Amino acid sequence: MLYTSTRDNSIRVTAAQAIAQGISEEGGLFVPVELPNFDINKISSMTTMSYIDRAKTVLKEFLTDFSEEELDYCVSGAYAAQKFSSPQIAPTVNVDGNKNILELWHGPTCAFKDMALQLLPYLMTVSAKKTADGKTIVILVATSGDTGKAALEGFKNVDHTKILVFYPVDGVSPMQKLQMTTQEGDNVSVCAINGNFDDAQSAVKSIFTNAEIKNELAKKNMMFSSANSINWGRLVPQIVYYFSTYCDLINMGKIKAGDKINVVVPTGNFGNILAGYYAKKMGLPIKTLVCASNSNNVLTDFLKTGTYDKNRKFYTTTSPSMDILISSNLERLIYRIAGNSAEKNASLMQSLKESGKYEITDDMKAQLSDFYGNYATEAEDAAMIKKLYEDTGYVIDTHTAVAASVYEKYRKETGDTTKTVIASTASPYKFTRSVMDAIDNKYDVMSDFELVDELSKLSKVKVPQAIEDIRTAPVLHDTICDVDKMCDNVKRILHI
Ligand SMILES: *Cc1c(COP(=O)(O)O)cnc(C)c1O
Repeated sequence: MLYTSTRDNSIRVTAAQAIAQGISEEGGLFVPVELPNFDINKISSMTTMSYIDRAKTVLKEFLTDFSEEELDYCVSGAYAAQKFSSPQIAPTVNVDGNKNILELWHGPTCAFKDMALQLLPYLMTVSAKKTADGKTIVILVATSGDTGKAALEGFKNVDHTKILVFYPVDGVSPMQKLQMTTQEGDNVSVCAINGNFDDAQSAVKSIFTNAEIKNELAKKNMMFSSANSINWGRLVPQIVYYFSTYCDLINMGKIKAGDKINVVVPTGNFGNILAGYYAKKMGLPIKTLVCASNSNNVLTDFLKTGTYDKNRKFYTTTSPSMDILISSNLERLIYRIAGNSAEKNASLMQSLKESGKYEITDDMKAQLSDFYGNYATEAEDAAMIKKLYEDTGYVIDTHTAVAASVYEKYRKETGDTTKTVIASTASPYKFTRSVMDAIDNKYDVMSDFELVDELSKLSKVKVPQAIEDIRTAPVLHDTICDVDKMCDNVKRILHI
């Protein structure tokens, strides 16, 4: 299996090269030249497997330059039972008869980012051994909150790596901030920026492709890579859990092998839902991919009209990990629906860069029929958390609530009763204040950790270890910088 770039079709690299490099030299994203095919017999054969074996079955089709031993080492290390609070790793639970929820937050930082970022450091170090001649890999991360912590946990004290994380100073929840500012590890650095996630992501991308800095790094035997979902190594582990939830639905007796399902994904950078799209194109029986946005509904409009326009008001919401107006991974979809044309894609991306806007052709629009897009307002989000709790006792976080609200809109609009899975992307403990406020605003007077204890009483779910750990941990990182100083900051930290 080889990979090419969404902006230059002449490029051919192995999975190891794609993962070690993170982003292609001309700024495109790596994509597989062809997708593997999984027929229903192959999918059915995965129903009796553990999560680790399901992961190996899917990943080995993509990482064909990894040996069986290497793959086993990576996958077994990443999804080791002691790191996850559920033996199933990513269980599917049925909540009120018609809501199937794929819980993706049982990893060490309580967000779905762990599903990929527990594995990525393994994939990256194995890839670097194959391709990077012992260079130290410097991971630059722009985060809307969850990627930062998950990447820090994944890469802390990993030999031959350094990790630098930038997060928007006012754009993350109190728990997210505390998780990052208390991060331990010899190779980690965390910095807040005066700006939003899009500012952080754009600055990181431009540092990546800055030739002068890359040369200086090379002199010191270092190279950049990315732990954001622009890295193929972040995306490919996410394909696995769509197959896994399908198998679990069969095992739960909710569907028969071959039946179609819908999946609902709370979306920001378009990574998670794109993994679902790839699963569908590989043969997983998915009918509709429901793309759920918060008030930053640039994707809703795009899916409805075919025009992507980021020139709009940016909202800071209670689902901060989706507060994004430039969804990086949409580029991979655009490339595919443009008939795998790097030229067409590159010209649309150029237009996005210059005017913040592009419009796709009618032919391309027709291929968006795999998706349905809608959004939830802040009030709808809060109402969903409260209602589900009152009806069932099950407490969801603010991002999952966006998905659940949009699913209701989808049901109403289409009358589609196909069995559906809602991707639950974070534990409610990461967004305790917003979650508790949604349930009852009498909680607003309580401190962050009083709220944590209150949530535990009310949901009857034990406080996760990740949250216990930061109750008393000292703050180790308190740097704040302006966006135009990020580059200088990177140079200072790396002594270049
Ligand atoms: C990152 C994140 C999202 C958005 O996922 P994308 O892959 O960026 O679309 C949704 N919910 C939570 C909790 C997240 O951390």
